[in-house]
This record gives sequence, structure tokens and C-alpha cells, in this order.
Amino acid sequence: MENRPTIVIIGAGFAGISMAKSFKHAAVNVLLIDKNNYHNFQPLLYQIATGGLEPDSIAYPVRRIFRGYENISVRMADVLTIHMAKQEIVTSVGNFNYDYLIIATGSTTNYFNFDKVKNKLLTLKSIPDALNLRSFIFQNLEKALVAQEHGEVSELLSVAIVGGGPAGIELAGALAEMKRFVIPKDFPDLNLDKMEINLYEASPKLLGAMSEISSAKALSYLKKLGVKVYLNTLVSSYDGTYLQISNNEAFKTNTVIWTAGVKGAPIDGLPNEAIGTGNRILVNAYNQVSQTDRIFAIGDVAACITDKEPKGLPMLAPVAQQQGKLLAKNIVRLTKGQAMKPFKYYNKGVMATIGRKKAVVDLPKWKFQGTFAWIIWMFLHIMALVGFRNKFVAFFDWMSNYFTYDKPLGLIIRPYKKKDKPTNT
Ligand SMILES: Cc1cc2nc3c(=O)[nH]c(=O)nc-3n(C[C@H](O)[C@H](O)[C@H](O)COP(=O)(O)OP(=O)(O)OC[C@H]3O[C@@H](n4cnc5c(N)ncnc54)[C@H](O)[C@@H]3O)c2cc1C
Repeated sequence: MENRPTIVIIGAGFAGISMAKSFKHAAVNVLLIDKNNYHNFQPLLYQIATGGLEPDSIAYPVRRIFRGYENISVRMADVLTIHMAKQEIVTSVGNFNYDYLIIATGSTTNYFNFDKVKNKLLTLKSIPDALNLRSFIFQNLEKALVAQEHGEVSELLSVAIVGGGPAGIELAGALAEMKRFVIPKDFPDLNLDKMEINLYEASPKLLGAMSEISSAKALSYLKKLGVKVYLNTLVSSYDGTYLQISNNEAFKTNTVIWTAGVKGAPIDGLPNEAIGTGNRILVNAYNQVSQTDRIFAIGDVAACITDKEPKGLPMLAPVAQQQGKLLAKNIVRLTKGQAMKPFKYYNKGVMATIGRKKAVVDLPKWKFQGTFAWIIWMFLHIMALVGFRNKFVAFFDWMSNYFTYDKPLGLIIRPYKKKDKPTNT
């Protein structure tokens, strides 16, 4: 193992894992670092937040993924900064040298003009976020049951979701189904007439990255489920009780879920010129970071700006995975003195689910919706989960949810506070 080049990969998300796996038989030493000890399957976070799946079934320990990989070691650490001149990174557990450094740190929530009130918002970017959201919603239901004896409970029951992308619509659909099928069974004495689920989207359509037909179908599914969808609607402020809408309308709720955007999560120490719009790291066609030699970025954090893709590729799991795979091959080529191959994204399709038998799928040559789309969505998500146990548990939970119309995972797991306020920590 000595005299082999050292590849340091920061981030065990879709990009980092796919890259590290692709080095299995390569003559390199790989150090994979993540601040968590698990890989998080973000597309199913909304299922955790709404009690459809348990958190353990969408996460997988990074070390266990790489059992049997002799050339890969794993460290749990927060990477703080890069010293380019020394080819070294500084982390919470010490410094590490690299021959090639790969930044695969993904993205973080972008609060835009709501940054000042972010502590009043709930988010859906990590497993703690999803568990926090689940607990918050069920805690509100418990409080509403008591409060309805004396008066107003709409603030406790109603939910506002800001952002009509996949995360927002999937969450809205799942909450609407909870309201219809689950809450009446768990809280038979609670009057749900005052429970409104509102979804706010600034652009004229939902699922902006998908086809017109899929966007329209998603809208009609949500309306059918009782979600009030506001398109072309900017939310302007939130004081913890009232969410102010651009046309001076206000919505009373203590549950505002922010899924309105993400921005890149780069590491300090890169040249200023290497950071572009949306805080993403600017890379060339080989994912090499602008103005650097041995540093590469892949996945959500990276943007290769071209005439065809003026904003860079979309922040999607398949982009991250494909970039990871190719970059591993390119690094091996570099170590052999060969030329690298440029990255080309192969779009296999995009999909989103709104509820039972309600999903939309855009394949490059075929777009379809409804029950078949929903079955395909479930199958592909189960297959994409890491580990046999996770696939089996997710399949079992979804089958049981389907036949019983129930979601049994409504535990409130959070430190007890006298006066609960939404928090994203
Ligand atoms: C709610 C939600 C729903 C989504 N739905 C879909 C979907 O349906 N389809 C789809 O294709 N995509 C979806 N996405 C997007 C998809 O999850 C991302 O595109 C994908 O995760 C990007 O992979 P990545 O490897 O670049 O980053 P990530 O998967 O985010 O991984 C980044 C890793 O880096 C680690 N990290 C970050 N900073 C540091 C640091 N300083 N030190 C150490 N470690 C660090 C993090 O802990 C994390 O493990 C969704 C995202 C969310 C949040």
C-alpha cells in the first residue's frame, strides 16, 4: 500500500460513496471523511418526517459499506479548511495530507430573505431535521387536542410548506394523506376541520425541472388530496405565528417548513474565484476546481458552467453518482500519466411521488403518471437504498402502509422543553 497516491474524499453522500466504491481495485489509498458516520438517502427524508419509514432504513453506516475494501479508510470528522500550498486539510480530528483532494460536501439549506428567522423554520435536509419535524407535528397534535377545549387551534394544526420542488410536494402529499388516513385513527377526538396544508411556490409551476404534463398532474393530485397550492406566490416574512404572503395575505401557523432552496457547501481555503453563483464550486469538464491543480469537486457542491448548462447541472443524486464514478477512473488515468475524459451527464429520467398511486415520471422519451408511475417510483427507491436490511424494511413498511392505510411511526423523540419553538437543530 506504500508509495501509492493518497486520495482524500470529503463527503460520504451519493457522490463520495460512488467514487470511493469505484476505487475498489485501484492502486491508490483512499481516505473518506464525513461528519456523520452514515450515508443519508435524502430523497426519502419526507417519509421519516411523516412516519412512513423509520430513520434507520434510509441511512447506512459508512464503515459497513466499505467492509472488505482494503485500500479505503474512513474517518468521522468535520473538515474545516484546506491548505492548498501544503496539500493538507484541517479537520476536527487532525490534519491529513492528500495527493488528490475531492470535495463532495453536497449542499445546505438556502434561506434567502428568511435567513434572519431561520430558527423559526423547520427544514428537511438531514435525518435530525426529519425526526425533528415528525416530533414537532405530533407534539402539535397533542397540544391541539388539549387546546381545542378552550379555543383556537388552527395555528397548531395548520402547516405551510415553502417551495414546490420534489421535497415540498412529496411532503405536502404525505401530510395530506396523514390528515385523511392516520390522524383520525390516532386522535379520534381531534377536530381536523381547521387543519390546512398550504404549499407556496414562487414560480408559475410545481416541479420546475420536470415536464409541463408532470407539473400539471402533480398540481391536480395535490388539489385532490386537499392541499391548497399557491403558485406565483412569494412569501415575504414570518414572525413565528403569521406567514406573510406577497399580496398581504397572512397564514396563521407555527409550522413553516422551508424547502425553497439549497446552496453549495464548499470548504474554506479555495480561491475566491472558484466559488460561483449559489455558493457552488466552479469546475471544468473534468470536475477539476477552477484555479487549482489537484483539487476536484463533484455532486451538488460542483457547477460546470457551459452555454448549454448556464447554471450547472441540476442538484440530483444521479448527477453526483455519475460524476463520482467517472472521476475515480480519471484519477486512475492521471496516476498512469493518461489523459482524463470529460464528464457527460446521462439523464435516465426524473420522478416524484405525491401519494398512494399518485406519482409522475419523466423519462427522456416517455412521460407517465398515476399507479404505474408510483410502482416504478417505489421499486427504484427500494433498489437504490443501501443494504439488504434497509431494502427489506422499506418494502415491508410500504406494503403494510398500503394495506392498512396507516403510518405507524409517530413517536415524539426530542428533548422536552417547556415552551417548544420550531428549531432546525
Ligand atoms: C428532501 C430532499 C429530497 C430530494 N429528492 C431527490 C430526488 O427525488 N431525486 C434526486 O435525484 N435527488 C433528490 N434530492 C437531491 C439529492 O439528495 C442530492 O442531489 C444528492 O444528495 C447530492 O449528493 P452529494 O454527494 O453531492 O451530496 P450529499 O448527498 O448531500 O452528501 C454530502 C456529504 O458531505 C458531508 N459533509 C458536508 N460538509 C462536510 C464537512 N465540512 N466535513 C465532513 N463532511 C461533510 C455530509 O455530511 C454529507 O454526508 C433531494 C434532496 C433533498 C434534501
